[in-house]
Amino acid sequence: MNTIDDTAVGGLREGLRGSVITPQDPGYDAARSIHNAMIDRRPAAFAQCADVADVRAVISFARDTGVQLAVRGGGHSGPGLCLVDDGLVLDLTPMRWVRVDPETDTVQVGGGSLIADLDHATHAFGRAVPSGIVSTTGVGGLTLGGGHGHLTRRHGLTIDSLLSADVVLADGSYVTASPSSHPELFWALRGGGGNFGVVTSFTFRLHPAGTVGFAVTLWPLDRTPEVLRWYREFLPAAPDELSGFFALLVVPPGPPFPEPVHGQKMCGVVWCYTGDLSDERLAAVFAVVNEPAPPAFHFAAPMPYPALQTMFDELLRPGLQWYWRGAFFEAVSDAAIDVHHRYGQNIPTGLSTMHLYPVDGAAHQIDADGTAWAYRDALWSGVIAGIDPDPANAEAIRQWCVDYWSDLHPHSMGGSYVNFLGHGESPDRVRATYRGHYDRLASVKRAYDPDNLFHANQNIPPAPD
Ligand code: FAD
Repeated sequence: MNTIDDTAVGGLREGLRGSVITPQDPGYDAARSIHNAMIDRRPAAFAQCADVADVRAVISFARDTGVQLAVRGGGHSGPGLCLVDDGLVLDLTPMRWVRVDPETDTVQVGGGSLIADLDHATHAFGRAVPSGIVSTTGVGGLTLGGGHGHLTRRHGLTIDSLLSADVVLADGSYVTASPSSHPELFWALRGGGGNFGVVTSFTFRLHPAGTVGFAVTLWPLDRTPEVLRWYREFLPAAPDELSGFFALLVVPPGPPFPEPVHGQKMCGVVWCYTGDLSDERLAAVFAVVNEPAPPAFHFAAPMPYPALQTMFDELLRPGLQWYWRGAFFEAVSDAAIDVHHRYGQNIPTGLSTMHLYPVDGAAHQIDADGTAWAYRDALWSGVIAGIDPDPANAEAIRQWCVDYWSDLHPHSMGGSYVNFLGHGESPDRVRATYRGHYDRLASVKRAYDPDNLFHANQNIPPAPD
C-alpha cells in the first residue's frame, strides 16, 4: 500500500471545503481518538468531509494514490475499523445534520450523524427511528450493520425503517440506493456494513415514540439460572410493545440504584414499553418481574424516549478500554445458562457486562432474504463486553471476554452481529455472520467495489469473476 506525501496532502487540502488534519496539526490527537481507547492507530491524514463533493474528492484521491482508506462515522466500532495506520481517513464527522419531513413521516440523516442527533430532531415530532441504546453511536456504522435497540421488537431493526441511502461508490459516482434504484446495492447496505460505498445520507421511515415506559429490574446474581429460564420463555411470548434486554452487570454506584446494591454483581433486565403508559397499566405489565425470584430492585416510570436513549451515555463514556464479541441465539439453553452463571461471577471490572438484545417481534416480520441481515430466525443478539478505564486491565477484560465467548459459542447459532465482531477474530467469522447471504454480498461487492477500495471494515472481498 502507498503512503501519501506532503505535496499530495497539500493538493487534497486545497480541493476540500472540509479540513485535512495530519500529525503536524494540533487537532491530530483529537481526530484519532475514538470511543474505544484500546485502539491506538496513527493515520497519515484525516480528510474531514463537509459535503458530498468532498467525499467524492477523497475517494478519487484514495483511488489515484493507492493509499489505504478508512471511513469514519461515529467512531464507535469496537475493533476501530474507522482508523487505519499510515492511511487516509475519510472522516464524516462534519456531516451531522437531520431533516424531518412531517408530511411524509420520514427523516433524512447526514452520514456522520450520531443517534443523539437523530433522536433530538425526531422527538420534536413525537417520532423516532429504532436504533441503538447509546446515543453517542454513529447512525452510519449502526445502520449499515443492521441496528438493534429498545424499539426493535416494536418497529424492527434500524435497516427495516431504511427507505433509501445516498451513496458515493468506489468509482466516484453518486447514486441513490432504494427498492427501485440499485436494488441489489440497497439489499447489501442493509446489514452488509461499510463494504459498498460511503453513505452520505440515510432516509428512514418514522414511528410514533414520544414517551416510553422505562423499567429496570435487578435480581441477585445467584438467581441468574431462575431468571434466565423465566426470561427465555416470557419475553418471546410477550407482545411486541414490550422489550427487555437481559444483562449481567456490576450495579453502577449512582441513581436510580439504592446504595445497598451499588457495586454488587447482579443480573437484570432493562425494559422499554411502548403501550399504554398509565400507572395502573405499567404496574400490571411489570408485575411479572416477581415470577422468577423476588427482585433486589425494580423501578418503572414513563420517560421521553431520548432520556432513555441517553441513559447509558455517561456510564459508557468515550475513552474506556473495550473488548467485545457477539453471538446470535435462537434459544437460551440450559447449558448456555450454566455458562452465563459461571462467567457472571467472574465479571472482571465494574463496567464489564453481557447483554442479550431481543431481535424478534417486528424484526421477524421481514423476509429472511429481504435484507443482508442473515439472522431473522434469531431471538437474541448477545454481546460480551470487557470494559474498563484502566489500560492496565486491557488484557484481563479481553481474556474474560474471549473465554466466556469460547464457552458460549457452542450454544449459539454460530455467527455474530457484524457490529459485535471483536478485533482479532478470523475472516471466517464474517462468513458465519452472513451465512447464506455471503456469496450474494460478495457478488454485489464485485459489482460496486471490484478493487476492494473499501476494505477497512468487516471485509467481504469481491467474488472472483
Ligand atoms: P465507526 O467506527 O465510525 O464505523 C464503523 C464501520 O462503519 C466502519 O467500517 C466504517 O467505515 C463504517 N461506516 C460508518 N459510517 C459510514 C458511512 N456513512 N458510510 C459508509 N461506511 C460507514 N449496535 C447496535 O446495533 N445496538 C446498540 O445498542 C449498540 N450499542 C452500542 C453501544 C456502544 C457504547 C458502542 C461502542 C457500540 C454499540 N453498538 C450498538 C455497536 C455499533 O452499532 C457499532 O460499533 C457501529 O459500527 C458504530 O458505528 P459508528 O458509525 O459509530 O462507527
